[in-house]
Amino acid sequence: AKAAGRGRWVRYDPAMVAEESARYALSADMPDALERGEFTLVYQPIVALPGQKLLGLEALVRWRHPELGLLPPDRFIALAEETGFIVPLGRHVLRQACRQAAVSFPDHDLFVSVNLSVAQTQEDSLVSDIGEALVAAGLPASRLQLELTESALMSPHGAGLRALRTLADGGVRVAIDDFGTGYSNLAYLRSLPVHTLKLPRPFIAGLDQAEQGGAPAVEEQIVDALVRLAHAIDLTVTAEGVETYAQAQRLSALGCDTAQGWFLGPAYPPEQLRRLAVGQPAT
Ligand code: C2E
Ligand code: CA
Ligand code: CA
Repeated sequence: AKAAGRGRWVRYDPAMVAEESARYALSADMPDALERGEFTLVYQPIVALPGQKLLGLEALVRWRHPELGLLPPDRFIALAEETGFIVPLGRHVLRQACRQAAVSFPDHDLFVSVNLSVAQTQEDSLVSDIGEALVAAGLPASRLQLELTESALMSPHGAGLRALRTLADGGVRVAIDDFGTGYSNLAYLRSLPVHTLKLPRPFIAGLDQAEQGGAPAVEEQIVDALVRLAHAIDLTVTAEGVETYAQAQRLSALGCDTAQGWFLGPAYPPEQLRRLAVGQPAT
């Protein structure tokens, strides 16, 4: 037992100790795993509403761990953020996403959307890293979208706002991920170099209830209000986590511009991307 201040005592829990050492082993293994090419991407379609025309893809990182199998990001992103490894990992994700988009869709203007962690936006090299990834891939800036959380954008000292403005001026699109879950300053939103609000799955999941008659569910009122707000300041809206036909219908009726989710398409490995573009008119 160990003294934990103010005369309280905390017992060491063997399960917690085991978990802590597993976390440690995982984070210690990340740099080699990156070298070995174990971090790969899958791509989820982002489609127009209504009509479901393919417009772009969100890149989602996976760790193909030799012993533990395919690890989803909630197993390692927070760890990588704690250790700072998210910066080299994020750079790898950006390069890979730009390259795979350019190779898979050479004749289309489909965009690729990449998640950025706060730590990445604070790097002095953000603009040059992204510039280099685009040039190395031969991908026009207009075909890259960056997804940042509200906290990354709203904290005045934190976010590399100047960097984002430079990138946006260069044609890169910026989306706010999981909009409505943080503490956005709505007045400030207008002055940010942002093009799109992404509404998180819990709001969208509530849209099914609205179908059953009576007063619209509170989620429906929130989505309605956010779509109006976004359009009033010339932003577009992407709904995330669309799992049913009814949700897609409601979102179209509410004027939501674009959507993604299992109903509209799963995340595909890069080998399958070329096939996705077939049947999509080249532009
Ligand atoms: P996110 O950016 O909000 O990504 C959406 C998550 O929802 C993805 O989980 C996706 O697979 C999942 N999803 C998509 N459609 C549906 C649906 O219809 N129903 C349900 N239940 N889920 C759906 P994933 O891939 O496990 O990613 C989780 C989170 O990890 C992401 O949330 C993002 O915050 C983070 N992440 C993923 N890739 C990266 C990356 O390259 N860099 C950073 N910094 N974070 C990443
Ligand atoms: Ca995202
Ligand atoms: Ca999201």
